[in-house]
Amino acid sequence: MEKKNIDWASLGFGYMETDYSFVANYKDGKWDEGTLTSDHTVTLNECACVFQYAQTCFEGLKAYTTEDGRIVTFRPDLNAERMEDSAKRLKMPVYPKEKFIEAVKKVVKANAAYVPPFGSGATLYIRPYMMGTNAVIGVKPATEYQFRILVTPVGPYFKGGVRPLTVRLSDLDRAAPHGTGHIKAGLNYAMSLYNIVDAHEQGYDENIYLDAATHTTIEETGGANVLFVTKDGGVCTPKSDSILPSITRRSLMVVARDYLGLDAQERVISKDELDSFAECGLCGTAAVISPVGKIVDHGREICFPAGMTEMGPVTKKLYETLTGIQMGRIEAPEGWIVEIK
Ligand SMILES: *Cc1c(COP(=O)(O)O)cnc(C)c1O
Repeated sequence: MEKKNIDWASLGFGYMETDYSFVANYKDGKWDEGTLTSDHTVTLNECACVFQYAQTCFEGLKAYTTEDGRIVTFRPDLNAERMEDSAKRLKMPVYPKEKFIEAVKKVVKANAAYVPPFGSGATLYIRPYMMGTNAVIGVKPATEYQFRILVTPVGPYFKGGVRPLTVRLSDLDRAAPHGTGHIKAGLNYAMSLYNIVDAHEQGYDENIYLDAATHTTIEETGGANVLFVTKDGGVCTPKSDSILPSITRRSLMVVARDYLGLDAQERVISKDELDSFAECGLCGTAAVISPVGKIVDHGREICFPAGMTEMGPVTKKLYETLTGIQMGRIEAPEGWIVEIK
């Protein structure tokens, strides 16, 4: 298969139209078969539930080329399960796990020419999403839905080398206790836009949100989980019901424990113990881990020892082991790597 003529290394994280998307529709209580489409525009009634009441959720994963030339995705079953949780919480119909994985395979295969070659650092970003499509004006769930998957090639995250981030502890909240922080709903992002633009204007790369009830414990950023390395070389990550369960973070905890033999704990982490950590990183599909060099808490600066030019040693080991597993250099746990044939 001939690859598209794309300068992979200079791609950013942006949208580029590819040959096909996947689309399935839900009506009269059931999903249709679903199909590939070359129509990348969605036309809906002006009163569609997604427009009026933001009834929509999404997922994010990647396909990439391994060293031995296979096209693979990483743990798509967990994306399917998380989307099931999101759909249930938003009173949307579940798109069945087996069909979700089939659809991912189908749309990646159809766009194989857009899957960046091994070594380019670029990947094919896969964005499954679902929305309420029929007109509703009273506040209630839609009765008709569309499930789609778009794919778009994206560039290497650390272009020109790693740059540790400067983040602030946020005064605004992301997710209420017993709210929707644990699901991947569009609404969680709409309300974060004000705060991320403000953070950038103030010279910060990201906001770290605190628990909304007490503002004393660490939650996560707007789009990534947080992971810390303790001074004795263990790994810990915040435990909270209002955090989005990152697949990258859950995988890194397994890597820490089973591959690197580190102590790995999920526990409540107070903002007062930030000084006691040696390293900090943000985990998500896009970057795997972005190192944090500095956290600013209203004038109190927590500077991690690795500084502002490189990843800390444990973060680096975690990063290299997980990306090694993803790229086929290191043997993966059963079921983590799903080949597209
Ligand atoms: C998607 C997302 C993450 C990262 O999850 P991954 O499965 O690792 O990509 C973390 N936090 C939030 C709020 C997210 O929406």
